[in-house]
Amino acid sequence: MKQRVFSGARPTGRQHIGNYIGAIENYVKLQEKYNCVYCIVDIHALTTLESTSELQQNIFEMTLDWLAAGIDPKKSIVFVQSHVPEVTELFTFLGMVTPLGWLLRVPTFKEKARMQPQNVNYGLVGYPVLMAADIMLYKTDLVPVGEDQLPHLEMTREIVRRFNFLFGDTFPEPKAKLTNYPMVLGLNGAQKMGKSYNNHIELAATPAETLEKIKTAVTDPARQRRNDKGHPDVCNIFSLHKFFNVDRVQEIEVECKAAGIGCVDCKKLLADGINRALHGFRERRIALAKDPDHIYDILSDGAGRAQAIAKETIMEVKTKMGLIRHA
Ligand code: SF4
Repeated sequence: MKQRVFSGARPTGRQHIGNYIGAIENYVKLQEKYNCVYCIVDIHALTTLESTSELQQNIFEMTLDWLAAGIDPKKSIVFVQSHVPEVTELFTFLGMVTPLGWLLRVPTFKEKARMQPQNVNYGLVGYPVLMAADIMLYKTDLVPVGEDQLPHLEMTREIVRRFNFLFGDTFPEPKAKLTNYPMVLGLNGAQKMGKSYNNHIELAATPAETLEKIKTAVTDPARQRRNDKGHPDVCNIFSLHKFFNVDRVQEIEVECKAAGIGCVDCKKLLADGINRALHGFRERRIALAKDPDHIYDILSDGAGRAQAIAKETIMEVKTKMGLIRHA
C-alpha cells in the first residue's frame, strides 16, 4: 500500500513561478511514489476574503495550472474542498475535542486578527481545526510542508492524538514530508513572491509579458553602471537563473562578477530561460482552457473519489463518538 499524501492550497487563481518552485513541482514528483490528494481549499479562503466574486474563476485558473504543470488526475485526486461537505462535519466534531486555548495561541491567528481587525471571525480562530479536518478526513500519512509550516502540522498531530486518546485509535499521526525549497523572492527583491505584492511572474504569462515583468526586477543594488562589477549572491535575478538556466548559471556568475554581462542582457537571458522552461506548460494550458467542461469533470471525479474515503471516515468517527446507535 502506498502512503497517502494530502496537500491543500487556497484558490489564488493563476499561479506564479514562486508557487511552481515552492509547491507544484513537488506535487508532480510526489504522485509517482504516493497516493496524493490535492485539494483547492475554498472554505479556508472564506476566512479572509472580502469578496467571493472571483472565487469560481480562481478555482478554474488554478486547476488549469495544476493540470498543465503535470498533476495527473488519473494518479492523484484533485478536487475542491467544499465539494466534499464531510470536511465541515469532521471540522465540527474535531472542534469538540480541541481546547480553545490551543487555537488562541496560534501565531497566525494573532497575525490575521491584527491584519483584519474588522473581521476577526470564528472561522479564523478555527482555521487549524479545519486544516486538521482536511488532513484527517483522508487518513493522511504525509503532508508536504516547509520548515516554517511545521508548527501548523503539529497542531493537527495534537488533535489526532487527543481524538485517538478519547475515542480509540482512529487516525494516523500525519508526518511532515519536508520540502526544503528556498523561498522565491519577488521581483522587487523585498518580499516572498506573491500576487498581493504584484512582484510575481504568472506561469501562464506570454513570453513578452514575462520579459516585461523581468525588466522591472531589482538587481544588485551596488551595480549602478554597466561597468560596475556585480554581486550575484545578492541579486534576485541570479537566484532565478539557478532554476531556469541551470546549465549557464556558473558562466553568468563569472560574467556578472567581471562586469562581462550587463543587467539588461542578463534579464533577457532569464526571460529566455523561463519562457523555454514553461513553453510546454503554456501550450498544455491553452489546450486545456479550450474545454472547461473537461476541467469541471476532473474536479467532479476527484470530489467523488475523495468523498468515498471521507464517508468511511465520518462513519467511523460518528460510531466512535457515540453518535450512531449500535444495533
Ligand atoms: Fe544580477 Fe545579472 Fe545584473 Fe549580475 S548581471 S547583478 S546577476 S542581473
